[in-house]
Amino acid sequence: MEGTAIVISPLIALMKNQVDAMRHFSEKDGIAHFLNSSLNKQAIDQVKEDVVSGITKLLYVAPESLTKEDNIDFLRTIKISFYAVDEAHCISEWGHDFRPEYRKIRPIINEIGSRPVIALTATATPKVQHDIQKNLGMVDAQVFKSSFNRPNLYYEVRTKTSNVDIDIIKYIKSQEGKSGIIYCLSRKTVEELAEKLVVNNIKALPYHAGMDGAKRTENQDAFLHEEVDVIVATIAFGMGIDKPDVRFVIHYDIPKSLEGYYQETGRAGRDGGEGQCITFYTNKDLQKLEKFMQGKPLAEQEIGKQLLIETAAYAESSVCRRKTLLYYFGEPYDGENCGNCDNCLNPKKLIEAKDELCAALETILALKEKFRVGYIIDVMRGKSTNDIKLYKHNELDVYGCKDDVDEKMLNAVIRQGIIGGYIARDVENFGLLRVTDKGKEYLKEPLSFKIAEDKDYSEIDNEIQIKGGTTCAVDPVLFSMLKDLRKTIAKKLDLPPYVIFQDPSLEAMATTYPISLEELQKIPGVGAGGKAKRYGEEFIELIKRHVEENEIERPDDLWVRTVPNKSKPRLEIIQGIDRKIPLNELARSKCIDFNEILDEIESIVSSGTKINIDYYLNEVMDEEDQEEIIECFKDFDSDDLEPVIKELGSVYSEEEIRMVRIKFLSEMGI
Ligand SMILES: [Zn+2]
Repeated sequence: MEGTAIVISPLIALMKNQVDAMRHFSEKDGIAHFLNSSLNKQAIDQVKEDVVSGITKLLYVAPESLTKEDNIDFLRTIKISFYAVDEAHCISEWGHDFRPEYRKIRPIINEIGSRPVIALTATATPKVQHDIQKNLGMVDAQVFKSSFNRPNLYYEVRTKTSNVDIDIIKYIKSQEGKSGIIYCLSRKTVEELAEKLVVNNIKALPYHAGMDGAKRTENQDAFLHEEVDVIVATIAFGMGIDKPDVRFVIHYDIPKSLEGYYQETGRAGRDGGEGQCITFYTNKDLQKLEKFMQGKPLAEQEIGKQLLIETAAYAESSVCRRKTLLYYFGEPYDGENCGNCDNCLNPKKLIEAKDELCAALETILALKEKFRVGYIIDVMRGKSTNDIKLYKHNELDVYGCKDDVDEKMLNAVIRQGIIGGYIARDVENFGLLRVTDKGKEYLKEPLSFKIAEDKDYSEIDNEIQIKGGTTCAVDPVLFSMLKDLRKTIAKKLDLPPYVIFQDPSLEAMATTYPISLEELQKIPGVGAGGKAKRYGEEFIELIKRHVEENEIERPDDLWVRTVPNKSKPRLEIIQGIDRKIPLNELARSKCIDFNEILDEIESIVSSGTKINIDYYLNEVMDEEDQEEIIECFKDFDSDDLEPVIKELGSVYSEEEIRMVRIKFLSEMGI
């Protein structure tokens, strides 16, 4: 084709990759170029020269650059073969990545000069497709559509509990050496989860828009070059990434829309091989997302909510995931059982819902097809809301027709009635329901209509408190037994219990069930020092007995470790103490005050590392004084400093008491 094709693409970061890929097809680098804000004057001149001389066949342009006067003026002077609009779903506010500047593309094309236009996208619902065509003025265009079905992808939705991190670590450990992407909604979660994976010996890196550009590219490349197995990312990651052998995509949070979900999961198994798509879902996340939207314009909020409802419906449904997804993209799926999703592999018992479907259809018609699902269910169940009274819908025959059926069931009936084609939801009109022709036929001659009950994804776990960065005990019974044992041993040895093991260590034991000395030493706060050998045996015995008696399946090979905070300065403090540097000098060299260095040392000691500060203590305190404080500590039965300070505070300073406590913990505990 004669002339240069103009490729309009939203992602500046990807243009270079795309251009590089194109250059492989030619001997001349000038065959493809990009024009965006990252180029300097000299580079822009080179691009223009190549375009004018006819060498360049493809010119990538960001929509922002396309609106600039100079660029428009330049493009008017050259011969253009055609326009390609990439990621065309960005045109529609119903797409998952709406970009207002995409709406200006058509007027600008008209200004530059009309040529053939091709629009491309990998995710478009019928509604989005219509928006694209309308907006680009190509309603009569020929549409090429390939199936949305990706038979090699396995879809699963799991309940998200407070142990989601452990669940994910377990899952990844079962996928040894395979490449995977974990999507989280917030940057904070990305950072924290990546760190947790790393301390659990999983090769992982974070990726999000808040990181600086160079670091982001570095992490992305490390993933592409398989230096790491897992990338933990916000949805900023992956557009245009073409790694063929991503074996799993995990959604840590519910995606904001099914388009987003489809596109993100679509990055798994591009080579046609295995691709597992696991989503962790709780309806609590829905409320969080709705809260995020509150600052946005109302229309946008409304759209956002609708998209979210679709995603939640997908997650909670017991219908084949593939069928639901394909239905969403306007593609029928005729198979009864796809054999590659959690719902098909573990089908739920089906319930006859003929009466309920008929009642739903009749209610929708009685309400003149002007209401949404929630209202329709309220009428069917005979609820007395203000709106119902206002519209006098409590006088209808259908009012209360299914007052003995719960809301969840009716929701499932309507949802599956939609998928079955009996009911249609008018997306453009905020989800008003109407009865299709097929639905009207059904009412004349109702047949059996069996549905699967929706799953319950409300919080199942009993809300065990999580402390900063540490795990919580998943087995509260064992935890309290371990505490009792600690008390008994402490009494026998005449020591406060916390000297033996601190609570976080017991919580970890009641989570991972160590039954050998080696395993016990991996528990945070136990360490390889003397603690495990001195007290470990009795704890191991207790855990073993508990595991056997209750037939507990221990997590294989799984040691969820906590993330050490500020571990580098701590290491330097330990080294400084080893070299017998006076603590006050050590504090000064670290630019922290004396109390802060005591804080650090206390937490080093309580995490199981032996520290000997005698060299300093003997310098600043008499041994008898130290002895008196130690005796006082032994008299109290908690790790609280307060009672000791109350008792001896008039004689010794708080700093002195704390230093002696460190000595005491170090000598007795380890
Ligand atoms: Zn299925």
